[in-house]
Amino acid sequence: MESNHKSQGDQNDEMVIFSIISSSICSECGAELIKGRFLKMEKEKPLCLECADLDHLVYLQSGNAALTRRSKKYSNLSAVVMRFSRSRHRYERQGLLVESEALIRAEKECKGDEAARKISRERAAVVRELADKEYVRQFSVKIRMQYPGCPAQEAEAIADHACQKYSGRVGRSSGAKAFDANPSSRPKPL
Ligand SMILES: [Zn+2]
Repeated sequence: MESNHKSQGDQNDEMVIFSIISSSICSECGAELIKGRFLKMEKEKPLCLECADLDHLVYLQSGNAALTRRSKKYSNLSAVVMRFSRSRHRYERQGLLVESEALIRAEKECKGDEAARKISRERAAVVRELADKEYVRQFSVKIRMQYPGCPAQEAEAIADHACQKYSGRVGRSSGAKAFDANPSSRPKPL
């Protein structure tokens, strides 16, 4: 057990800050630190963030993995915030202290991703709709090939009906599927 103690600290290079659960006093400036404040232990002595030269950092609560990862990446200096859970008898990660510029940059990037995801979702919906329309068109062509007397409009209506799903989205009912001789000719989504 004892031999593990040091290596555990070594493999984790992150600076740790505690969100305290009972009040403390900064050993350097004497400031009273109430429950919930941040504290750094340096050589067994509690320090407030000002005295630890970390008061320029901003707190980012855990919960958004991408934002956390990016904030940490862009921050020259960061610290993990831990708090002791009385019920679970262990320290638990609460969030991260990072430079505000890093957090702003990370937030911008995450927002950019969000916009890009929205665009690709919309694009996929358009492609699906085009693919459905094309499928109905091919289907009606096949109906007319099989029943040369069938008027174009009627063939299209039959095809449209056969391809309609309950959801309102065009799909392939079993009848329509059976009719589909060459599925690979269907347009593929981008
Ligand atoms: Zn202090």
